[in-house]
Amino acid sequence: MSRPLKLTPMLEQYFEIKRQVPDAIVFYRLGDFYEMFFEDAERAAPILDLVLTARGKGGDSETPMCGVPYHAADQYIAKLVRSGLSVALCDQIGEASATKGLVNREISRVITPGTAVEATLLERESRYLMAFAEQNGASGAAFLDVSTGDFFVTSYRGEDDPRLADDLARFSPREAIFPRESSEGFSRVIAAHGLAASRGDEALFDPRLTFELLTRHFGTATLRGFGLEQNDARVAAAGAALRYATSSHKRELSHVSRLRVDSDDDCLILDASTLENLEIFDSRDSSRPRASLWNVINATRTAMGGRMLRKWLCRPLRAMDAIFDRHDAIEELIANPPRQETLASTLSSIADLERLTSRIALRTAGPRECIALAQSLENVASLKGMLAEFRGPLLAALEGRIASLKSVSAKITDTIEVSPPNSARDGDVIRKGIDAELDELRAIARDAKSILLRIEDDERARTGIPSLKIRFNSVFGYYIEISKSNLGKVPAEYIRKQTLVNAERFITPELKELEEKIVGAEDKSKAIEIRIYDELLAAIADGSGEILSTAAAIGELDALVSLATVAMRNRYVRPVLSPHVEVMIEDGRHPVIESISPERFIPNSSEIRREVNGIQIITGPNMGGKSTYLRQVALIVLLNQVGSFVPASGARLGVFDRIFTRVGAADHLARGESTFMVEMHETANILNNATERSLIVLDEVGRGTATFDGLSLAWAIVEFLHDAPSRGAITLFATHYHELTDLAKTKERVTNLNVAVREWNDQIIFLRRVVPGAADKSYGIQVAKLAGIPGDVIERAREILATLERHERDIIEETRRTGKNQKPPDPQLSLFGGRDQEVLRSLRELPIDELSPLEALNMLHEMKRKLTE
Ligand code: ADP
Repeated sequence: MSRPLKLTPMLEQYFEIKRQVPDAIVFYRLGDFYEMFFEDAERAAPILDLVLTARGKGGDSETPMCGVPYHAADQYIAKLVRSGLSVALCDQIGEASATKGLVNREISRVITPGTAVEATLLERESRYLMAFAEQNGASGAAFLDVSTGDFFVTSYRGEDDPRLADDLARFSPREAIFPRESSEGFSRVIAAHGLAASRGDEALFDPRLTFELLTRHFGTATLRGFGLEQNDARVAAAGAALRYATSSHKRELSHVSRLRVDSDDDCLILDASTLENLEIFDSRDSSRPRASLWNVINATRTAMGGRMLRKWLCRPLRAMDAIFDRHDAIEELIANPPRQETLASTLSSIADLERLTSRIALRTAGPRECIALAQSLENVASLKGMLAEFRGPLLAALEGRIASLKSVSAKITDTIEVSPPNSARDGDVIRKGIDAELDELRAIARDAKSILLRIEDDERARTGIPSLKIRFNSVFGYYIEISKSNLGKVPAEYIRKQTLVNAERFITPELKELEEKIVGAEDKSKAIEIRIYDELLAAIADGSGEILSTAAAIGELDALVSLATVAMRNRYVRPVLSPHVEVMIEDGRHPVIESISPERFIPNSSEIRREVNGIQIITGPNMGGKSTYLRQVALIVLLNQVGSFVPASGARLGVFDRIFTRVGAADHLARGESTFMVEMHETANILNNATERSLIVLDEVGRGTATFDGLSLAWAIVEFLHDAPSRGAITLFATHYHELTDLAKTKERVTNLNVAVREWNDQIIFLRRVVPGAADKSYGIQVAKLAGIPGDVIERAREILATLERHERDIIEETRRTGKNQKPPDPQLSLFGGRDQEVLRSLRELPIDELSPLEALNMLHEMKRKLTE
């Protein structure tokens, strides 16, 4: 930072503070403003739309600066943090020191993108800080959501592990920290995801220090209870995250009371591209932003439920009995609609318990938030009562996990007024009868105020000035104001303090004596209120573990009630779980298309058994409904494992370990990869990692390259999936390569399906029915015509198509006859028939220099004859 040579004491103090937080924007409190200086001011001003000014203009110590009013600071902080910056609040503490005449200042809080709990910054979703560490050649990461207390670790094979990118997509952390010395690869991945990132000192990630910090925090001797040993990169990452967040809040995070080890072994794995391709959370079509599975199936009423259902969608179950229990719970909820309705409306009146608890633990919660907590806890108690009526194992277990927290809510409502002000500093927060001294001080202040009113009356009578007023301001305290016209009647003992245009202000010894009483009593009572309020927060925070586990149970209940609501609303059915690898769906529907498309949705059935017809090749015209069908099957499989009912009239479904997708020519050009490269990456991942319990959805492979390359790749991929028994996953492959349908002739598990169309007057009508067999042609030209391509182009395309098809038949015939693969034709030549090629060849070989004009003419004649024959 460029700094002036001569420093004022204030700037000296500023630089001392800035040194502690070099990366954060320092908000330096000066009177009623937070000021930013130097580079901080230059960085922040454009983001905040502020005008940059200068202090000490023109001199040696010219200081660029800008400032925001203290009272509106939250909005400005939120803006900076949203744009990925951190803000350090530097506040005044204590009185001005006698020697320097300078108030002491200290950093009271650092607000970073990944650790913020400020209401202005929080959406309902989780807000994770991610820490990444490497140790003994292994990598580990920790994810910490300070706003809810959620904390877990996971490990990666290295920065190239595709799971790293998957987790960034699943958990969307807001900020990442990693050791200064760590490899470049990780910061590249982070940068590619546009995450705010900070490199921390090695000490932050030190194996011994992080281990000690975690054991101290959790009050355990080891971390074995969490399944972690000391020399583990995950421990380093977790310790770093906890310390970073603790120092940003400048206090212990007592509500972070558990650490989970995240493992994919027990869930249906959905990688980042599958979440994207199946449009689980976000639509890929910007004109239909609401076309995502999340939008259709989220009917949660609480913030906890919303976050829980999101987790369920990212990590569906794999254990059959756990899926069965969720199905059971939904069935039980649906069986009694009025009871479900009551549950749902009670849930609606429960606030975000996790966020409230964390704000209480961090002492940032105001009195109104405490009241909201108390009211929510009352509703929690009645929810618990309602759950007692349910019999299924899951709902019964949830009832057991919801604690009756009536004593907490009673403590809050006994202590705080029903409608308190926003901040405990405003006073009038604590109820009467809690503290005798407080009550007494309030009585004094109240009495004094009524004495004040009496004095006003008396003075009016004594002076004969009816407009005489007693007023208060922060400069003189209480004073008497008398208008100009009445100045003649002012008694001699009044002491003049100020002259205004129309009036003068006076004080009297009596007034000052009373003022001292009032102000003294008010100051003292405020201090007592703040003490009692802090004690209340501490008492609630002591029980935060119970509130948080209750909140988690409510999240699960809400997610289940939401699934039940959606199942009823959209006529979903309970699937039967099958031990086999199969997908049997009767009249299945695409949950999102059916809810947003103006067209009536045509259901389609699927009967897929891995061993019998596990590989399905789907052909048919563009826009025929191939993608919709593929995704419909994948989404039904996914919903089943979320524990949801499914959009169909009946289903029997195996349990899968992974859903792989390779869909369309998704454009990742922004990430600097060509479409074909992305396509091949995704395909390689599938071929290397699919197991016989995976579901593979391929929507066009090989489009990004020349036809014959693409076709050959697609062909080889299907053969590979078919022939390698260990990898023979259920595969749905939509393709425009017609040739692939021939595979069904030689590969027994390959079946052909096509989307039916009807041709009428050279037009095509999409029937939206998936039927057995290969499509007889691809109808690309008809679809182009539908789209309005000019007639001449359509005609010419038909001609070219006829030639190409003739030629392709020749090659296939030749291959069959000789048993050897034929060299793909030169794409230029492929537009001409076999005879044309002969002419071209002889033309190319013609020794023109050696020919007489007559010979040349004869040759020309001969060529023409060949071509027109
Ligand atoms: P393809 O993959 O064959 O090009 P899509 O699956 O993208 O075709 O389908 C094109 C459009 O047709 C979809 O956006 C949808 O609106 C509609 N569609 C597809 N399947 C159905 C269906 N079963 N019922 C109703 N509309 C459908």
